[in-house]
Amino acid sequence: MSRHVLVAIAWPYASAKIHVGNVTGSHLPGDICARYHRLAGNHVLMVSGSDSHGTPITVVAEREDKSPREVFEHFHRGFLEMFQRLGISYDLFTHTDTENHHRVSQDLFLALLEKGYLYKQVQEQMYSEAQGRFLPDRYVEGTCPVCGYEGARGDQCDHCNTLLDPQDLIDPRSKTDGSTPVLRQTEHFFLDLPKLARAGLAEWLQRDKEHWRPNVINFARRYVGEGLQGRPITRDLEWGIPVPVRGWEGKCLYVWFEAVIGYFSASVEWAHNQGEPEAWKDWWYNPMARTLYFIGKDNIPFHAVIWPAELMGVEQLYEDDPTRRLNLPYDIPANEFMNLEGHGMSGSRNWAVWMDEALDRYDPDALRYYLTVAMPETRDTDWLWEGFVRRNNDELVATWGNLAHRALTFAYRRFDGRVPVPGSLEDVDTHLLAQIEAGFEPIGQLIARSKFRAALAEVMALAREANRYLEEKGPWFQIKEDREAAGTTIYVALKAIDSLKILFAPFLPFSSERLHQYLGYEDPLFGRSYTATFEEEGGRVHEALCYDDREARGEWRPSELPVGQVLRQPEPLFSKLDDSVVEEEQARMGAGGLSD
Ligand SMILES: [Zn+2]
Repeated sequence: MSRHVLVAIAWPYASAKIHVGNVTGSHLPGDICARYHRLAGNHVLMVSGSDSHGTPITVVAEREDKSPREVFEHFHRGFLEMFQRLGISYDLFTHTDTENHHRVSQDLFLALLEKGYLYKQVQEQMYSEAQGRFLPDRYVEGTCPVCGYEGARGDQCDHCNTLLDPQDLIDPRSKTDGSTPVLRQTEHFFLDLPKLARAGLAEWLQRDKEHWRPNVINFARRYVGEGLQGRPITRDLEWGIPVPVRGWEGKCLYVWFEAVIGYFSASVEWAHNQGEPEAWKDWWYNPMARTLYFIGKDNIPFHAVIWPAELMGVEQLYEDDPTRRLNLPYDIPANEFMNLEGHGMSGSRNWAVWMDEALDRYDPDALRYYLTVAMPETRDTDWLWEGFVRRNNDELVATWGNLAHRALTFAYRRFDGRVPVPGSLEDVDTHLLAQIEAGFEPIGQLIARSKFRAALAEVMALAREANRYLEEKGPWFQIKEDREAAGTTIYVALKAIDSLKILFAPFLPFSSERLHQYLGYEDPLFGRSYTATFEEEGGRVHEALCYDDREARGEWRPSELPVGQVLRQPEPLFSKLDDSVVEEEQARMGAGGLSD
């Protein structure tokens, strides 16, 4: 039975480049999930986009004397190119400064207002007398009242992840000029979280969450359980989505309130772009659909509490059938962080491996492989250059690449470029094929449960089995005495490789696609990513990354490699990296200067 699967990936702020930690935290696990489900015959919609609002963007714009739009469009274009090169197969990667997203966010706000889940309250907000304006939360820093961390931001403590208001901070200071801000009164809309908790949010968090990662569900339950308060969802800001209420000019929807709406608005945009404006409902109203949110741990409160609260409160949007309800998250497999050589990655300190630069120097599948084996699924991990080189050389090249290349070149040269006709299969032959065939179900289950490291380790273990088989059989010796026996071995090896190609495909799409061609297939396994420019009715124009899988024919099932199929001339799938890479990269990082 095929199922609708929404793969929703955290929206990156378009104020800095994306580093490997961001990729392994959300974009790559989401892509592996999406590619697996497409192969398994499910209907995947994978969406995200650039967060073009919020103070990270205005901070950069002010520093560089540019408009916020110039800043976010620059980084957004870089994201589109980088994701395409890395094979992150978004059905739609858009941004939040579209008319569509503004309209959907305002409609959702108004629906919550109408249902009584928003209330107005005068609050005190940090105000800079020197600059004559209210300071956005991220412009205020101070000491965290919970853990005592001295560099906590006004919206959240990076050390203990507690969500904060700037006035919670001890010794607050303005990030721009270090001055002490004063408190001044201003009126805002608040999301009534206590009321939403009573209306079902708290109960929902207690129900059917066994498949959630413990850190995610524990955080959410604690958050809702302990003195839950309403949170302001508007701000005194010029850059953002205007509050759609008369008399509220000059105020915007708070970025964390509207960015999560992006999953929904991007689905609506995707359907519109497809010319099937209702198609998004298959993922958002169909109770059998599964919606998975791939995020970093710093985003847990917004996805496990705030976004479900918004969805639950609004109940439905753009739907005629009064009985239907918007789908709440099925799973939120939040990842921990990836550090770099033992230190936390930091864009501002230039202590990071930038994804686009890594792609200038290394094969995308080699990068994807390492980012999967070192994925921070249950605890923080480290990007180690020595580890990258070793995993590439010892596993990708020595095990999987060599296996495929040796068998293919032998068939290509010694069996007239065709899949050889086998003699009768012996136990050792059928055993290998059965072993690999038996891998599809459990490995697919591991991927569906977001256990990507374990899944990839299982696939690599099967590749080792196939390698051992080829080594023991030694077709290069067999052929001297018994051509048919050698043909049988190569047939079995190619069939094993053909299956392994599918098992590896969600992780290593580029090399699997090449291998698929070497094996003589015509139709591609996967679809094709491309960028497109969309003009909206109000005249705004935006670029987005899209995915066309109409030609894709890959299927999550064991090989049915036809005997006699004509092969294409094979090339090595991966290349060995020289040990000098480690020193070169470490010198490059040192040049960036890590100092506390
Ligand atoms: Zn803290």
